[in-house]
Amino acid sequence: MKRRLFTLLAALATMLGVGLAAVPTASAVTAAPMGPHWQKQAATRYIYAHVSSSVDLNRYPVITNMNTWNSYLAVNSVPLRFSNVGSCTGKSPCFEIMMSWKAQGISGDTGLITSGGYLVDISTVNLYYNNDVNPYDWRVHLGMHELGHALGLAHNTIPNSVMNVDWNQSPIGTTPKAEESLALINTYR
Ligand SMILES: [Zn+2]
Repeated sequence: MKRRLFTLLAALATMLGVGLAAVPTASAVTAAPMGPHWQKQAATRYIYAHVSSSVDLNRYPVITNMNTWNSYLAVNSVPLRFSNVGSCTGKSPCFEIMMSWKAQGISGDTGLITSGGYLVDISTVNLYYNNDVNPYDWRVHLGMHELGHALGLAHNTIPNSVMNVDWNQSPIGTTPKAEESLALINTYR
């Protein structure tokens, strides 16, 4: 298996890619754990992202990741959206998405900035790949995971979830699980 060639490095998760789904009502779904998150507000909050010119969008589906999260947020009436901008000037909160290669493994990190117990900004989302050998669904997973942190989601152990840090799941998660949507609903709606 190709997958065994890769080293599990930091914080990544997995998700099962099925279509858009609102959280089922009156079900046994338990909300996934939250980490540092934004203060709840009535109006939709836009989280701006400036994609560094070093990010090769043919290799890394960061725009697709933002659109996927936006679709889930919209269908669940969660008032948060990602917006891709050419520059962070005059935009807040805004963060830069950077990408680079490393000799081995695939990993990422997200610089969360908190104040008074809440997320107030994000510094940078760094994405590291082992050149071109990482499968495309792993790249999707990586972006969904790091953007999940930007929404306030913490790691979890839900099978095939985007916020699960275990790479050895099949299939790897590429879309949010109901538990993750529910966590965002409970926090922001
Ligand atoms: Zn993580």
